[in-house]
Amino acid sequence: MTMWADAHIFVYHRFGDSRHPTTDTTITQITKEFDYLKNGGYRVIPLKKLVNALKDGSNIPDNWVVLTIDDNFRSFYDNALPIFKKYKYPFSLFVYVEATQKRYPDYLSWEQLKEISKYGSLEFHSYSHPHMTRLSDKQLKADFKKGLKIFKKMLHVEPKYFTYPYGEYDSRVKKIAKSFGFDAIINQNMGAVGKKSDLFDLDRSALVGKSNLKYLLKFKYLHATWIEPKRYPEDGILKALHVETNTDAKSGGLYITNNGWRKIDMEGGKANLPLNIKLKNGRNRVIISIKNAISTKLLIKDNRWN
Ligand SMILES: [Zn+2]
Repeated sequence: MTMWADAHIFVYHRFGDSRHPTTDTTITQITKEFDYLKNGGYRVIPLKKLVNALKDGSNIPDNWVVLTIDDNFRSFYDNALPIFKKYKYPFSLFVYVEATQKRYPDYLSWEQLKEISKYGSLEFHSYSHPHMTRLSDKQLKADFKKGLKIFKKMLHVEPKYFTYPYGEYDSRVKKIAKSFGFDAIINQNMGAVGKKSDLFDLDRSALVGKSNLKYLLKFKYLHATWIEPKRYPEDGILKALHVETNTDAKSGGLYITNNGWRKIDMEGGKANLPLNIKLKNGRNRVIISIKNAISTKLLIKDNRWN
């Protein structure tokens, strides 16, 4: 039996490219995934349809699925486009502009991208694919300006959506990205999209390597306000958790990178507890769950500018 739970956005990177197993999806795998969506009654829709429904405040059907591809790798054109065409599945491909502009060997040409745009939409994924939290405001704005200018000049379209390189961002990066007028911004935090999702912080699960589509489709969107943590703590110690959800849950789950999941007590949907956990990674995720609904806070260490 299929369990539908909110809409989901997925991201692929490379296809049938065994040189990069952690970011690759094999042809067997993608065919299995597409069959699962088809046979399970899921509706693969263009990103635009989901964004418009969110803008209108209409209900988001539980069986909606949006497929995206980050980075304009050749392997999409060579190995995956024929499969997308066969299933008639729409997609949005997010372009790393410099790679095409400078003709990096593993990347698509402008001509190939134009051909691809007959089947899906082309969107923006930065000029130089930087770790955005490491750039100053000035550097960050310059990257957007340069990339958007070349994108429009070469493809004659204006990108409507943006994804962060490496999925790395914080509130400062988000604010600058938003100032460039995108209709929506999509992160790379596992989860789902519901009526109350933030158009400029839509959760998106990765379908690469050994990821499990069936498992990822079970997640629901959790509407939560993160009071603490808001950013990577200066001393690297996660002191406390203070999150308010729109539920009346008495307990939930808490995940912290390198620490796994634990059960936590909540009061009327609110979590407020001391942690004192030393973060070991540069990129950490704190996830709160109530049943199968989740909300993520991404904490990135090398944020020299905050
Ligand atoms: Zn990328």
